Amino acid sequence: NIVAYEGNLDDKDKLLEGLLVSGFNKASCISRLQSHLYRKASPHKPSQYLISKLRKYEELHRRCGPNTKAYNKSMTNIQLSKNNHGDAATMCKYIIWSPTNGLGNRIISMAATFLYAMLTDRVLLVRFGKDMEGLFCEPFLNSTWMLPNNSPFWNQEHVETYESILEKDKANNISKVDLPSALFLYHQYIPKDPEKFFHCDHNQDLLRNIPLLISQTDQYFVPSLFMITSFKLEITKMFPENDTIIFHHLVRYLFHPSNEAWGLINRFYETYLAKANAKIGLQIRVFSPDATPKEAMMDLILSCTIENKLLPELDTKNLVSCSHQNQTLKAVLVASLYPEYGESLRAMYLNRPTASGELIAVYQPSHEEQQKFHDNMHDMKAWTEMYLLSLSDVLVTSSFSTFGYVAQGLGGFRPWLLVSPQEKKANSPSCDQDFSYEPCFHFPPKHECNGKPQKHFASSSPRLRECMDFHHGVKLV
Ligand code: GDP
Repeated sequence: NIVAYEGNLDDKDKLLEGLLVSGFNKASCISRLQSHLYRKASPHKPSQYLISKLRKYEELHRRCGPNTKAYNKSMTNIQLSKNNHGDAATMCKYIIWSPTNGLGNRIISMAATFLYAMLTDRVLLVRFGKDMEGLFCEPFLNSTWMLPNNSPFWNQEHVETYESILEKDKANNISKVDLPSALFLYHQYIPKDPEKFFHCDHNQDLLRNIPLLISQTDQYFVPSLFMITSFKLEITKMFPENDTIIFHHLVRYLFHPSNEAWGLINRFYETYLAKANAKIGLQIRVFSPDATPKEAMMDLILSCTIENKLLPELDTKNLVSCSHQNQTLKAVLVASLYPEYGESLRAMYLNRPTASGELIAVYQPSHEEQQKFHDNMHDMKAWTEMYLLSLSDVLVTSSFSTFGYVAQGLGGFRPWLLVSPQEKKANSPSCDQDFSYEPCFHFPPKHECNGKPQKHFASSSPRLRECMDFHHGVKLV
C-alpha cells in the first residue's frame, strides 16, 4: 500500500537527497511524492552547491516570475525600450524556451536551457502549445513557468534576431547600448547556417546584456556552455562528480509527470511490471522505416539482448521447460511506433521455453505508427513511455534518439545503445553499453572562437568526447 508506506518515509528519499524542495501542494502533483517508490535511490547525489543554486534560482523565479510586481515592471521596460536602456540593476532577466521537434528533443533542450538560465540569472519561461499542456507539474514552488497568455513574446516576429546582432558585431564591434532589450536566439541545427559562436566568451558577454531572450533549440547544448570560462567553473562546482552527471539531476528536478500522466504510468506499472523479478526497457526508434526491414531490426535487437545476456536464449530442444527452479519472471517494456516489435518478441517467448527457464512477458503500451505533431494525447503517450522505460532495471535504447536520452536521464542509466541498422557491419556488435550518462549534443559548433574551422568539437577540451551513437556529436565526460 503505497500511501501508507509513504507516510513512514524519510523526506530525504522523497526529496531526492535535497534536489527537490518541500512545500508543494501534495494533491497537485502526486508523482513528486510517489516516484521514488518506483525506482532505486540514485547513487548520484546532488552536490550541496547544486542544491544551493537551485534554491537561489527558485527564489529568483518567485520574485521575477509571472504574476509579480517585478515581472510586470521588467516586462513593461523590455517592451517600451527598443534598445537596452532599462535600469539593468533592478530589472529581472528572462529566457523563454520555445518548442520545436519531438518531445525528447524538447525535454533535453529545456534541461539545457534551464542550466543556462541558472548560469545567467535568468528566469526560465516556457511556451507550451496545446500539445504540451498537462504533461508536467509546475517545477518551481509557488510560481509558474508558463509564459502568460497575454505576453507579446508568444510571437517573435517583432523581435531582433541573434544573427542580426552577430552581423552588426562583425561589421563594427557592437556597443552595449546598441543591444536590443529582447532577442530571438535560434540555435537549432541547420547544416548551411553560419557559425553562431554561442560557445564563445565574447558572445556570451553580449547576450548577458539583453534582458529577454527567446530561445529555440532542440539540442542538449550543455557541452558548449562548458567552453565558456565563467560557466565552466560554475558547472564544475555544481556537478563535481568524476563521471559527468548533469542531465540526470536536471531532468529529475524539472520534469514530474502531471497527475494525468502519473495515473497512466502508475496503472501500467502496477498492472504489468510491478510483479516481475526484473524489468528491461527496450526502446526501438527507427529513423528510416522504409529502408529498415523489420526482420533486420528484430535480428539486431535479439543479437544485442541475447549476446549480452539481457534476455535469455530459447530452448530449441524441448517444448516444455526442464528447469522449474528458475521460473523467474522478466518483464520487457517495448516502446516503439510500430506494433510488430512487441508482437514478435511476445510470440517468440510464448511459443518456446527459454533455456534458463525464465518466463518473459512482453508489453508494448502503444504503437502510434508515426510521429504526430500538435496532438496532446500522442505526446502524453510518448511521455508516459519515456518514464516507464526509466523505471526498468536495464535499458536498451536506439542510437541518435533523444526519446531514449530522456529515459536514460530519468533512470540514471548508461544504456545499451543499439547501432543503427544501416551502420551494422557483419562482425561488429549490435549494441554496446554507453560510456556516459549524458545525452549526446548532436550538432556542436564547427569553429573555434577565433573563427578557425575545427575538425571535431571534441578536440576543444579533454572533458569532451565523441558520442558513441553519433560521431558528429559530443558529450562531456
Ligand atoms: P527522437 O526523434 O527519437 O530523437 O525523439 P523525439 O521524442 O524528439 O521525437 C520522436 C517523437 O515520435 C516522440 O516524441 C513521439 O511523439 C514519437 N515517438 C517515437 N518513438 C515513440 C515510441 O516508442 N512511443 C511513442 N508513444 N511515441 C514515439
